[in-house]
Amino acid sequence: MGSANKGYEFLSEIGLSSKNLGNYVGGKWKGNGPVVSTQNPVNNQQIAEVVEASIEDYEEGLKACAEAGKTWMQVPAPKRGEIVRQIGDALRAKLDPLGRLVSLEMGKILAEGIGEVQEIIDMCDFAVGLSRQLNGSVIPSERPNHMMLEMWNPLGIVGVITAFNFPCAVLGWNACIALVCGNCVVWKGAPTTPLITIAMTKLVAEVLEKNNLPGAIFTAFCGGSEIGQAIAKDTRIPLVSFTGSSKVGLEVQQTVNARSGKTLLELSGNNAIIVMDDADIQLAVRSVLFAAVGTAGQRCTTCRRLLLHESVYEKVLPQLLDSYKQVKIGDPLEKGTLLGPLHTPESKKNFEKGIEIIKSQGGKMLTGGKSVEREGNFVEPTIVEISPDAGCVKEELFGPVLYVMRFKTFEEAVAINNSVPQGLSSSIFTRRPETIFKWIGPLGSDCGIVNVNIPTNGAEIGGAFGGEKATGGGREAGSDSWKQYMRRSTCTVNYGNELPLAQGINFG
Ligand code: NAD
Repeated sequence: MGSANKGYEFLSEIGLSSKNLGNYVGGKWKGNGPVVSTQNPVNNQQIAEVVEASIEDYEEGLKACAEAGKTWMQVPAPKRGEIVRQIGDALRAKLDPLGRLVSLEMGKILAEGIGEVQEIIDMCDFAVGLSRQLNGSVIPSERPNHMMLEMWNPLGIVGVITAFNFPCAVLGWNACIALVCGNCVVWKGAPTTPLITIAMTKLVAEVLEKNNLPGAIFTAFCGGSEIGQAIAKDTRIPLVSFTGSSKVGLEVQQTVNARSGKTLLELSGNNAIIVMDDADIQLAVRSVLFAAVGTAGQRCTTCRRLLLHESVYEKVLPQLLDSYKQVKIGDPLEKGTLLGPLHTPESKKNFEKGIEIIKSQGGKMLTGGKSVEREGNFVEPTIVEISPDAGCVKEELFGPVLYVMRFKTFEEAVAINNSVPQGLSSSIFTRRPETIFKWIGPLGSDCGIVNVNIPTNGAEIGGAFGGEKATGGGREAGSDSWKQYMRRSTCTVNYGNELPLAQGINFG
């Protein structure tokens, strides 16, 4: 790479150089937009340069993609699955350098970087199986000699806009399913993780090329809000899957809805862990540590609120504070590091601003609360004692800040859990079956993810992933979410010679 930093040599293994064209348009690499530099969050030094998309690149890409769609949707679904299987194999072969790149450019620790790429491999496997199960149903008709059935057809193009914190896994959730469903994919990754966008796309492009398929089936752009807005406005894209903040997600939803398009939204979270009086304390403490400190608190499913039953408050807190002291802060690529840097200098400023607001609203710092004095975007893992009614508790501060509060009854804990605008993930620690079933039932957690005795984060790909309320209501992956990537046709076929009408209507 063209920078003074050492240790970037592995990037050539995944097709990257010191200056990279950032857009895969009609099967070719292009770039007529601004040249940007991508940085290592450990020291904010340049890793490489990337040429982003111009609006002309976008237009050219979309034309080619729409054309390629006509070919792709006619490829039988199990054959499309075979292409996704090959993408999975290509990822397996590059798991280590890709995982390293995620760690380098995003800032999460290596184990999580590799885990992120593994998640796409798992999604590929899931989607391959799915490619033979896109089943419709046959419905009994009320009319003689009639047959009703449901057909699932591709939508055409699925637009995927992703966030910096999962710079490739979220693409995987969407793209694996969208592709087996017969859709082309148009992807815009986060503007601060362009190398990951390029490396992932190169790998998919090679598989398409090897199979003599049009490269435009997978079209990708590096760029910021301008390209994101172009996707949101584009009537050629029936479904826009957006992963990011609630604020931007709402804007995208309104733009897409205004042109009668569909959205899948995976937005901000504000997730709580509840520790009941009968909880296994050790299990709870280990879970809270992973959920609150993992990815430096930059997961949508990060635990931001810890609700402790008054009888265990004094037992859990000292153990948790003790485990926070042992967290090794450092370069995410180094062995033993548990807490890497925040993603950008701006993220660090937001953390510092957030801490001031927390203090002004009565928050008491139990540990952390400061930036780490060294180069890069490092901050201390922080625990704050605060009232559940403080305004800051209702918002997502994207860093390793954990609010701790106490409660007396299960009902009170559920009310606090549900009292925030977001509804992504939640977890309770208890052994009582009665409490477990109340928690997952209609009067329990109002979130999309409702866990018991495990952290709020680290979801498996088989389950539908997503959240309610300000988290957007979307389910991008797992379970039966494939139905959202397809167009359902209800077909009634008359194979007789009469024309009986539904509801027995006699029309003349
Ligand atoms: P962000 O909203 O700032 O950006 C997300 C994406 O939207 C980026 O690609 C960005 O370039 C693009 N964008 C920005 N303005 C746009 C516009 N006007 N129109 C279209 N696109 C636009 O989010 P971020 O800071 O990258 O990511 C962090 C947020 O994402 C957090 O709130 C986190 O909780 C959320 N997130 C949610 C999930 C989930 O599954 N629910 C997963 C990951 C991240």
